[in-house]
Amino acid sequence: ECTENVALLESQGRVLAEAVVADRDQPPFRRATRDGFACRAADVGGPLRIVGQIRAGDPASLNFPLLRGGEAVEIMTGAPVPDGADCVVMVEHVILDGGEVTVEPGRKMRAGDNIVPAGAEALKGTVVLPVGTRPSANHLGAAAACGYSQVEVYRRPRVAVLATGDELVELDAPVLPFQIRNSNSYSLAAQVAAAGGEPARLPVARDDPSAIEAAIRDAMACDLVLLSGGVSAGRYDFVETVLLSMGAEFLFTGVLMQPGRPVVFGRIRVCAGEYKYFFGLPGNPVSTLVTFALFVRPVIDALSGALPDSLRFVTARLAEAINVKPGLTRFLPAHMANGPNFQAWVNLIPWQGSGDLASTARANCYLVVPPDGTHLEAGEAVAVLLD
Ligand code: AMP
Ligand code: MG
Repeated sequence: ECTENVALLESQGRVLAEAVVADRDQPPFRRATRDGFACRAADVGGPLRIVGQIRAGDPASLNFPLLRGGEAVEIMTGAPVPDGADCVVMVEHVILDGGEVTVEPGRKMRAGDNIVPAGAEALKGTVVLPVGTRPSANHLGAAAACGYSQVEVYRRPRVAVLATGDELVELDAPVLPFQIRNSNSYSLAAQVAAAGGEPARLPVARDDPSAIEAAIRDAMACDLVLLSGGVSAGRYDFVETVLLSMGAEFLFTGVLMQPGRPVVFGRIRVCAGEYKYFFGLPGNPVSTLVTFALFVRPVIDALSGALPDSLRFVTARLAEAINVKPGLTRFLPAHMANGPNFQAWVNLIPWQGSGDLASTARANCYLVVPPDGTHLEAGEAVAVLLD
């Protein structure tokens, strides 16, 4: 089964497998958008006779008698405007005198003022949320307005997380002086979950071709395979050669970026016309984080059935000038904060390179330095990758 029906609130973090359609016109009637008096715009200028009151939610509100020239009706925000009226004057803009109301001198009204026509927001039958939407608060509100208490969503793609490396130990085992804790499986699992996938953390594979091959075969039960480590040029980096021996086709091997240069992406044919896609992510923990954000997330979006609309890059102003070696596009751990005038400012986090998780823990984004951008001035507009 590739879709399931969930309660509306459960659809957050999922992807819509059905379109949300307006079940009636929105608004369902001509809606007053202000508290005030409904009347004819052409009558404004002289005193108007108040002929009643219309409240939002009053069953009688839809059957108010036709409003005639020289008449006004007191009306509340959200109530239906009666036939015959073509504007609503705000209560702040009138002078009341017994049973009469006069619009303050000099104030002109036009037909349509403070009224939303029936169906102007969405006509009955209009698609309000297309298939592929990842519902967030605005979408949930729109779906609720259309009467959807349940929605059909796609199954989450299962994503295998497979760390490789002889030095790695799991969190529940004692760590010896020459060993490193397997942190990538956790950061990757968190990124997978945040991207709407279902992570499956597999046991660490040793730097041994047959161990790696066996682990990849297990991982191929999932919809996407993420390997970390073993893709660089070292003597014990076996991931690429194992994948090749398994008949993998590589779609790219290496990217002119730093961190993350050795990242590989490819697929293995499982049967006619069907492929299992994989990433070989560099083992350095910050490289793993950055290459996931750049390359893996869009693939999870695609496997999820999501529309490719997730916002990844924004612009901020650089707080302090920096110098970087040219040649590679850099994605440097940085901290972005709000400044005056709705402006975001970004600052580099000092770090020890792509293995430095402790410094990266102080970052909330990556500053993008283009390959020719050797010197960036303070105050310059720069690109930032969100993660
Ligand atoms: P590799 O890509 O296998 O050459 O590894 C590069 C660096 O990342 C080495 O310092 C590894 O110890 C480290 N590393 C590899 N895999 C992990 C992991 N799962 N968790 C933490 N560090 C790792
Ligand atoms: Mg390794």
